[in-house]
Amino acid sequence: MPTYKEVYQKSINQKAAFWAEQAAEIAWYRPPTQILEPKPNGMADWFADGLLNMCYLALDKHVEDGKGSSTALIYDSPATGKKETYTYHQLLEQVSQMAGGLKSLGVGQGDRVVIYMPMVPEAVIAMLACARIGAVHSVVFGGFAAHELALRIDDARPKVIISASCGKELEKIIPYKPLLDKAIAGSTYKPAHCIILQRPMLTASLEPGRDLDYAELIRKSAPADCLPVPSTHPLYILYTSGTTGTPKGIVRDTGGYAVALHFSMRHVYGIQPGEVFWAASDVGWVVGHSYIVYAPMIYGCPTVLFEGKPIKSPDAGVFWRVIQEHKVKVLFTAPTAIRVIKKEDPEAILLKNYDISSLRYLFVAGERCDPATYHWASEHLQVPVVDHWWQTETGWPMVANMMGIEALPFKPGSSTVPVCGYDICILGEDGTEMPNGETGYITAKLPLPPGCLISLYENEARFHAGYLQTFPGYYLSGDGGYKDEDGYIYIMGRVDDVINVAGHRLSTGEIEEVVAAHPAVAECAVIGIEDELRGQIPVGFIVLKEGFADAAEIQAAIISQVRDQVGAFAVFRKVYTVARLPKTRSGKILRKTMRKIADREPYTMPSTIEDPEVLEELHQLLQAPSYKQEK
Ligand code: AMP
Repeated sequence: MPTYKEVYQKSINQKAAFWAEQAAEIAWYRPPTQILEPKPNGMADWFADGLLNMCYLALDKHVEDGKGSSTALIYDSPATGKKETYTYHQLLEQVSQMAGGLKSLGVGQGDRVVIYMPMVPEAVIAMLACARIGAVHSVVFGGFAAHELALRIDDARPKVIISASCGKELEKIIPYKPLLDKAIAGSTYKPAHCIILQRPMLTASLEPGRDLDYAELIRKSAPADCLPVPSTHPLYILYTSGTTGTPKGIVRDTGGYAVALHFSMRHVYGIQPGEVFWAASDVGWVVGHSYIVYAPMIYGCPTVLFEGKPIKSPDAGVFWRVIQEHKVKVLFTAPTAIRVIKKEDPEAILLKNYDISSLRYLFVAGERCDPATYHWASEHLQVPVVDHWWQTETGWPMVANMMGIEALPFKPGSSTVPVCGYDICILGEDGTEMPNGETGYITAKLPLPPGCLISLYENEARFHAGYLQTFPGYYLSGDGGYKDEDGYIYIMGRVDDVINVAGHRLSTGEIEEVVAAHPAVAECAVIGIEDELRGQIPVGFIVLKEGFADAAEIQAAIISQVRDQVGAFAVFRKVYTVARLPKTRSGKILRKTMRKIADREPYTMPSTIEDPEVLEELHQLLQAPSYKQEK
């Protein structure tokens, strides 16, 4: 067996040969002869002359190979009490009908379809139906409120939106349709049609002419076949938070993504076709796109679609129940899920009720895996806990212990080593590589491997400015960190104003826009502060306009405004009214210093500060005992 070093070196030194071999592992309508075509911006087109279809790989191929009656999808929903399994054949039937339904509404190759759905099989069916006919889906996380959905509708301009009457949490029904209607009312662009899945617990009212019933559309539509698309054809747009209030539409290709995901299943996750893979995330995030839907499906692993929470579903033993019941081999979740389970059941007493011997690995990503969580999970689950690092932009892991090649010794606090294809470099301000042990910007030398973003949707300039311009020839990840003497990478967190709340990426700028919209607010700053369970939570600081005095009422109004416009998952619960905000002489708010003061970390007085006294005032406010309790 080749070592990690050997495989990795080949992926960097003989890129085209390495990825041509991987491309041969998937089925193409026309296999590529052009493997890596460099682009002027330093990136590359992968497999440019290849023709394929992602839905074919996920479904038809398995049916053709005689695996039609094998399980493709396991829907386990403590939220509704439902459990269902779908074979490849069953999914194929429904996806083909839905694809036909979309076609009947005039959706064709390159048209966008927004999907705003809870964690139900129909969300997966909708995604695959788009892929089948070459339409570009844009899934919006169901937790986003109307305003955020409207922003995405205006950017993607979808012909059709697929949604549901409601989401379901354990005790709560969350009506989706009013949010969708509000978003469409608030967006400049209007979709021609909405397809609404009526869930049994709530029936939404449909707007005649515009809205269609999901079940009826599937029933009456003729099935549609797969459309072969070029490798570089966009499979989806997935919006992620940047440093401003406008989300960034990450555009993913088809061929590069299929090859990279297929490669990652065996080599990173160390799993075999037929074994059960469970990514406990949401289809609205990149983990859901890559590891609930596409990777397990094209690789032939039954995938678990879990509609529930790590606790109270009905208890903190639900993850172990799901592992036992479905014989999960690999579980992928965010450290925050483990932290909430640990808080509820510190001694893992509930684990004793279950047999989790099927489990081979626990993979964690989405945020830093703190050593306490790492040790708790390793000790109780008795399997390797693999922290790995990646982003919406890359679509698949960049740094990991590649369990399918060679399990390297673990170092808690490190996500281990660069994944094949990623030439990770830690750069200093001047663009030169940092010595081992010293923190810098985490970058990847261009070209990026297959599977990563190809651009931002209709915004090449922002793509260039945000990712490629700072260090020419390198992709800027936005994270800081260092490499040790063994080449292990340590991720230290974002270097920009993006924060991470329970594994969910949020932009403080996005929240600031909502806060600033309150008529009483003269200026504001939102920063992410440490939180024991969620990693980080956002808090706001406002300066009131002259003549506004009732701070408590204003603060409460702002908090509910953020909940209504961004979503409750942002956990924005605290606003402080201050006389002034600390700024540089050029007027930039010193958010990083504010965060350090809030987290009680040592900080140095920035030399560019306009008025050091403001920092002193803030220090007193944030160090007050009442602040500590509130945190
Ligand atoms: P997202 O694009 O929403 O998946 O968020 C990606 C960001 O989450 C990264 O840029 C990191 O800041 C953070 N992140 C993801 N995985 C890890 C990890 N294993 N360790 C530390 N931070 C992580």
